[in-house]
Amino acid sequence: MQGTMMHFPLTLTGILERAGRLFGGVEVVSRLPDMSLHRYTYRDFHRRARALADALQAAGLRRGDRVATLMWNHYAHLEAYFGVPAAGCVVHTLNLRLEPADIAYIVNHAEDRFLIVDDVLLPLYEKFKDKVHLQRVIVVPLSKGPVPVGLTDYEEFLKSATGEFAYPELDENEAAGMCYTSGTTGKPKGVVYSHRSLVLHSLTEGMVDSLALGHQDTVLPVVPMFHANAWGLPFTSTMVGAKQVFPGPHLAPEALLDLYEREQVTVSAGVPTIWFGVLQALQQQPERWHLVPGLRMAVGGAAAPEAMIRGFDRLGIRVIHAWGMTETTPLGTVSYVKRDLRDVPEDKSYGLRAMQGIPVPYVEVRSVQGDAEVPWDGRSMGELQVRGPWVAASYYRLPDASDQFTSDGWFRTGDVATITPEGYVKITDRIKDLIKSGGEWISSQDMENALMGHPAVAEAAVIGLPHPKWQERPLAAVVLKRDAQCSVEELRGYLAQRFARWWVPDAFVFLDEIPRTSAGKFLKSSLRTRFKDWTWE
Ligand code: ADP
Repeated sequence: MQGTMMHFPLTLTGILERAGRLFGGVEVVSRLPDMSLHRYTYRDFHRRARALADALQAAGLRRGDRVATLMWNHYAHLEAYFGVPAAGCVVHTLNLRLEPADIAYIVNHAEDRFLIVDDVLLPLYEKFKDKVHLQRVIVVPLSKGPVPVGLTDYEEFLKSATGEFAYPELDENEAAGMCYTSGTTGKPKGVVYSHRSLVLHSLTEGMVDSLALGHQDTVLPVVPMFHANAWGLPFTSTMVGAKQVFPGPHLAPEALLDLYEREQVTVSAGVPTIWFGVLQALQQQPERWHLVPGLRMAVGGAAAPEAMIRGFDRLGIRVIHAWGMTETTPLGTVSYVKRDLRDVPEDKSYGLRAMQGIPVPYVEVRSVQGDAEVPWDGRSMGELQVRGPWVAASYYRLPDASDQFTSDGWFRTGDVATITPEGYVKITDRIKDLIKSGGEWISSQDMENALMGHPAVAEAAVIGLPHPKWQERPLAAVVLKRDAQCSVEELRGYLAQRFARWWVPDAFVFLDEIPRTSAGKFLKSSLRTRFKDWTWE
């Protein structure tokens, strides 16, 4: 027997229309390159996103054509997020922190037809333009300067709309968006998001036990819109009609704090390296900024150290620790204390929040060692595998990557995890970051998080280096806080209280900074290369 409900496609146009009709007066605020603020409302956004869809169709784009974006986080990028899919095309966000040659590879691999680019990013475009075959380049005049000859002014392009736009009848499984993995682990791989997957992801992300995004919120994604859909925040925020605030290219802690205060932001999101800076700035001058009490910070992309969660708590800021990947749209797990654990001692409660969390509805997890699923006992380690309606089933035009998908329909994350009996996933490492010493595994992530709990340590990364006797031994690269002092003996003793002796790194180096990936994560491969000839004493 079938249900008697309507067949109603889950497409992004539903979100766009809802925002225009119901939330017309709500503001979208963007910081421009010159630090001024651009403000308009959902009414303007709705009109302009539709105009973009209209103009793209009028310019000859057809269903499924890719429109790339090379943009910071701001109103025009939001327009592309919705306007491109509303035309039946695919919005392909390009990572502006990649090398020009890699961007060219990605543009060519995805066969992008049009590019929308910020005027301030034209120097980057110049570096790869000869290697790509774009039919049209549309420039967003953020600095209000003239657009170079031969390129199209975004504002003029919107004016070319016919005014007779009607949404195409879209199938919910059609492609709406596209993003390449940032390549921390090899060549970038293309993930294609369907309308349906983005809508379902938005519904789930809004839930109270996820990011609890609602109409009363003011949301500021620090995570770039080219990194895994800015973790879905622009879609979810538009769905609920939250006020949106975009930082443009200004991501320094003080610029962000200024925007949190000015616009009374209630939810923000980004990788831990952003929050290290914000936390330090707040701790140095706690009275300086007047933030909304209970401000929520979604932290993901890399583990949120327990010390960071505690540090923000003391300032009245609530960390929501989440795990995800480009391949999972990205939301996979969120950490919160379940009701049957709410009476556990405070230390245990922080321990739970520092784990990656429990899977959100419709994301299923398992941890696999060899061919067998390991028990959910909080100890047995295996590769984390996931499946769900917004988890990739394949990569775009990359049949060789089929080993990332199991024959029984799961995605292999490349992360090593344990799962507790209560369903908390704890990532111990990426497979390639695990350190193998004397036949046993050492988790670099646990030690990094512990080190970052030391009062003198700002950042720490632990890597395995070849060792003549033990196969590999750990080396800790440490960045001390400004004006802080600390000896190797002190750090060694600090770790020895927390870990088995053979886990404690044999070597410590003090650096000015840990190299970062294009998404702001620690780039351990670069440390491994730098110290590959290390001689052990
Ligand atoms: P890349 O692999 O290039 O970093 P992604 O941004 O898709 O690209 O990163 C996904 C990976 O980031 C995950 O596989 C995991 O290793 C790491 N990650 C994401 N969130 C967390 C988290 N909360 N804790 C630990 N690791 C995380």
